Amino acid sequence: MTDLLLLPGDGIGPEVTAQARRVAEAVAPDLSIAEALFGGCSFDVYGTPLTDETLAAAKAARAVLMGAVGGPQWAGAPRDRRPEAGLLNLRAGMEVYANLRPALCFPALADASSLKRHLVEGLDFMIVRELTGGIYFGTPRFIEELPGGGKRAVDTQVYTTAEIERVARVAFQLARGRRNLVHSAEKSNVMDSGLLWRQVVTDLHAREFPDVRLEHILADNAAMQIVRDPRQFDVLVTDNLFGDILSDAAAQLTGSLGMLPSAALGDPGRPGLYEPIHGSAPDIAGQGLANPLASILSLEMAFRWSLGRPEAADRILAAVVRALDGGARTRDLGGSLTTVQMGDAVLAAL
Ligand code: NAD
Repeated sequence: MTDLLLLPGDGIGPEVTAQARRVAEAVAPDLSIAEALFGGCSFDVYGTPLTDETLAAAKAARAVLMGAVGGPQWAGAPRDRRPEAGLLNLRAGMEVYANLRPALCFPALADASSLKRHLVEGLDFMIVRELTGGIYFGTPRFIEELPGGGKRAVDTQVYTTAEIERVARVAFQLARGRRNLVHSAEKSNVMDSGLLWRQVVTDLHAREFPDVRLEHILADNAAMQIVRDPRQFDVLVTDNLFGDILSDAAAQLTGSLGMLPSAALGDPGRPGLYEPIHGSAPDIAGQGLANPLASILSLEMAFRWSLGRPEAADRILAAVVRALDGGARTRDLGGSLTTVQMGDAVLAAL
């Protein structure tokens, strides 16, 4: 059985994933690692961004680490075979419904945040976003012509008890391994789906997680609190739409896009999908300028949440902190290290 399937993808994807692979081989030489084509590079060879074989390999692995997909050369590909369509199909096929986005501020980078140092120093919270339901998937959705002129557009927010419960369960379980606090964000003051969200989270908490502290917060207030005092949060769970927005706001607290990992998890025992949140960065691809830390930190999450090796994850995180403290910086962080040199710095710190 493959422990870790790498899908390096396009653009800077292969460059950053190669550094994560070096780190994986250093901390866990016994790990079985496989690699497959995915995205535009797969389209070029097989005519599809995600072959049945690659999806089967992803579902059979214990964790999948993706690089990034897409680029201008595939803009003309049929819509259902664009690299981005492959990514949606991979997420759907792996049934990953909880998106974890850490907002972690490394001390050495606190001055790169758009907030003042004293607000972000030591910041460490996790946004858990529902990924496969809500208004991005609900029907009916359409735009129609109105008889008197003009148009009408409709999107539908839909959530079931089961969908809310499973993502909230992920949040409570995460909190138990952290500071034991969950904020649940919705708009129960104005939306029925928000009312149901609050009720289901309250019931689940009472039934399965009475030891975890639970705070309900309206999503608009959560947005304000994230920029006012982000360190009050430990785990913040919310729906697909609010999570999309709040996680981007939280990302900005910690500086460069090249630093931000993510995980998407499904039911316990199923493989997780780990990826940097950045794209394939065609503007810098092939030049050795990409920061590999988002990929290396995605690997760190894979060790922690899918591979059952928290001690390896701790080592990777400590090595990244040490490399940054030692002044290692790629261009996006204001330095001049190449992708490989940043990988070297992390390996040296290991
Ligand atoms: P992008 O994230 O690729 O790049 C945005 C900017 O950030 C660029 O200037 C880029 O050079 C810089 N950047 C990104 N990652 C970096 C890193 N690791 N180190 C240093 N600088 C980095 O977003 P985009 O330009 O909007 O999209 C480019 C392509 O990527 C598009 O085809 C898009 O569809 C695709 N995309 C893919 C994913 C994914 O695979 N999950 C996510 C977003 C975008």
